[in-house]
Amino acid sequence: MGRVKNENLSRSEALGRSELIDVESYDVALDLRSVLDPEATGYISRSVITFTCNEPGAGTFVDFIHDGIHSVMLNGIQLDPDVVVDGSRVHLADLAAENQVTIVGTALYSRSGEGLHRFVDPADGRIYLYTQYEPADARRVFANFEQPDLKASFTFNVAAPSDWQVSSNSPLAVCEEMASTPGFSIRRFAPTERIPTYITTVLAGPYHFVEDSWKRTLADGTELEVPLGAYCRASLAEAFDAAEVFAITKAGLDFFHELFEYPYPFGKYEQAFVPEYNLGAMENPGLVTFTETYVFKSRATDAQYQARGNTIMHEMAHMWFGNLVTMQWWDDLWLKESFADYMGSLALVEATAWKDAWVAFANRRKAWAYMQDQLPTTHPIVADIRDLEAAKQNFDGITYAKGASVLKQLVAYVGFDAFIGAARQYFRDNAYSNTSLDDFLTVLSDASGRDMRRWSTLWLQTAGISTLVPEIEYDGDRLARVRLLQDAIDPVTARMVDRPHRLRLGFYNFDAAGALVRTDSVELDLAGSETDVPELAGRPAPALLLVNDDDLTYAKVRFDAASLQTVLASLNKITDPLSRALCWSALWNMTRDGLLAPADYVGAVERFAPAESDNGVLQVLLDGARTALDRYLPAAERAVQRERFVDSVRLQLGKAAGGSDQQLTWARSLAALSRSTPRYAGYIADLLHGTESVGGLTLDSDLRWRFWQALAATGHATHEQLDTELASDLTAAGRAGHLTAMTARPDPAVKAQAWADAVAGSELSNQLLDATIDGFTAADHELLDPFVEPYFQSIDSVWAQKSIEIASRIVRGFYPLAQDLEPGTEPRQHAVVVRTDEWLSGHSDAPAALRRIVIEQRDHLLRALTVQGRQLVQAF
Ligand SMILES: [Zn+2]
Repeated sequence: MGRVKNENLSRSEALGRSELIDVESYDVALDLRSVLDPEATGYISRSVITFTCNEPGAGTFVDFIHDGIHSVMLNGIQLDPDVVVDGSRVHLADLAAENQVTIVGTALYSRSGEGLHRFVDPADGRIYLYTQYEPADARRVFANFEQPDLKASFTFNVAAPSDWQVSSNSPLAVCEEMASTPGFSIRRFAPTERIPTYITTVLAGPYHFVEDSWKRTLADGTELEVPLGAYCRASLAEAFDAAEVFAITKAGLDFFHELFEYPYPFGKYEQAFVPEYNLGAMENPGLVTFTETYVFKSRATDAQYQARGNTIMHEMAHMWFGNLVTMQWWDDLWLKESFADYMGSLALVEATAWKDAWVAFANRRKAWAYMQDQLPTTHPIVADIRDLEAAKQNFDGITYAKGASVLKQLVAYVGFDAFIGAARQYFRDNAYSNTSLDDFLTVLSDASGRDMRRWSTLWLQTAGISTLVPEIEYDGDRLARVRLLQDAIDPVTARMVDRPHRLRLGFYNFDAAGALVRTDSVELDLAGSETDVPELAGRPAPALLLVNDDDLTYAKVRFDAASLQTVLASLNKITDPLSRALCWSALWNMTRDGLLAPADYVGAVERFAPAESDNGVLQVLLDGARTALDRYLPAAERAVQRERFVDSVRLQLGKAAGGSDQQLTWARSLAALSRSTPRYAGYIADLLHGTESVGGLTLDSDLRWRFWQALAATGHATHEQLDTELASDLTAAGRAGHLTAMTARPDPAVKAQAWADAVAGSELSNQLLDATIDGFTAADHELLDPFVEPYFQSIDSVWAQKSIEIASRIVRGFYPLAQDLEPGTEPRQHAVVVRTDEWLSGHSDAPAALRRIVIEQRDHLLRALTVQGRQLVQAF
């Protein structure tokens, strides 16, 4: 499916349109009677739009990415599609004050997860449909004005098999058998509240459906009842723990009603877990969609359940932040995503058993933000989004995780009550309308009694990350002077940013039992490049001084020399899981910045990870160690360090408690590491064949595929063996696992075929493309070197010909990231960096979104090569 030249709507076009028109309603009919025919590529879509124009006589356009438009009727007059249709736009001239346009065309079933996705379940051949639109793919399904500030009421009509589940944002109003087509019915859904196009949705298929309901007496004494529903594919029904999903949902609804003091405005609350989903979830009001990887067919760790709980809460927060009150344009995407991301963790801590959810936030979400904020493409949280392609790239670590981190800092700065007071006012003032930064600052200044403009300028409207470094002078074993230095250059403007930080310094010392515990802390305001903390003079020097204790602010923190020694010797002795996670995060940032030898990081993981009680943190550590081994260690040291580390992982797998999450996490790590070393290939084969076992460890399908992929990548699995495994796991996940294993085989012909299927072909769905990339890249660079030049030769046409979702995955996934630095050479002179620079300078006019991905991948590579070249001496 190629992209049409005028698909990329600009901000100024959107602004012009919203100044000209107001949309009242849509009546959309989707005729899915072709859906059971595997050869059918499209379906008939009819959209009737009622809208006003405040400048009669003027013209505008409707968005529709279609496979042919059959008729356009404006105010009762048939227009000639050959004249008014231009690519993905339908031009309407000479508007009246009140208008009605009816557009009928063919829309395409999607295989990329954008628009109306159609999936055939390999387990039973059944067909499932769902929609995914953000930021602008509703126009792939029906003609509309695709921008977030043209809200309207939507009525959906769907013709689909009578025995299917069909759902949408609103409850079903009417269902009628189609006399003309036996076995099919038309379902008409009630009109929605006024919402933007990107959160409208339709779901259809033989889904497994479970119902429940939630009730609450509101402050005014009225009773609010919200019907709940949950969907997944029929073949996943057995694994679906709907009761657990409902329990979290109810806890969330209670929590957010208490917190926001604004009743849930969208009637029912359904949640659908759908196949081949491009993201974690989407907050469609009344019908939230989630990736079905959250339906755990194989054993999952508590960290995975927590991640699902977090996503459920995140999407629920959007019912207020985003759906009730919507950003005007994608510049202010943070107005919903940063808030929802913050609320996801807050709701887990306050309303569920995951009281340690801020640990995962500190360890995982913030790592994403820190990484993204150091790329050359970073941007302020309030972004400058000129068009839809830029909007698509902006669902990133800045908008989500940095924004949420800065809100956490805001809570420390103004207090929780002021923050929530502002949110409540914001909902009351702006319900069903659109906002920008100013609207939020107004309520925040009112609620806090302070002018928040300066804070906003420094935190929301600058880019980059502050680094906080403690400088200590001693007087014997006491502190003589403690200063905190802030280095905060905005990479976009190259100017120093004097961000104010509300933060805590933690003092940690060993207790009688040898545990490293907090013995004291000081909360302070830090501003400017240097802050003296005079009240610390004269105190005994602590074993560990932790800057940003409790993770109140967003900054990279460093250790003083003595504290670094303590951490490298005794990190596992720190009793508080959040403090441990913060120390791990600081070590990781030091590694990425070339300040700590990668071998030191790997060594710390080897020594301390076995004692890590937080399974989510353990997973992050093991992944980090693998990245350090694969990418940051100089090539000459890699093999030795890798063998040593994989030995320790194998040892811990044997020692972990039978059936524990830790045991499963060590097993997954063994599988991941074994893609790069055959050291345990025989052992893994024995596990798979059942001639070897680990007490309490079940080799369910997920783990089996991970092990097969490891064997395949090192040349220890045959085509026949992989096919045999697939025959016993003919599921969607099994098919993807098999494809990764097949494409991981270290054979030039296999790699060439995988490349051709993914880059030149058009058959792979989003999920199978990811599986292919995963397998293809499981190889040393020698095997992949032949694809470096074809990569740079083909990304232009990939971008032009494939949907943006698919093209983005190819351009990012096939970038030749795994490279070695020849000792004594300059990272910038590495052949792949040079080739990337050539491409960039020869493509200054390439689409900005394509350039952004290439620039980011180049930066990841350059950072790795730079760290490889540092020749750091192992400190410990
Ligand atoms: Zn979100």
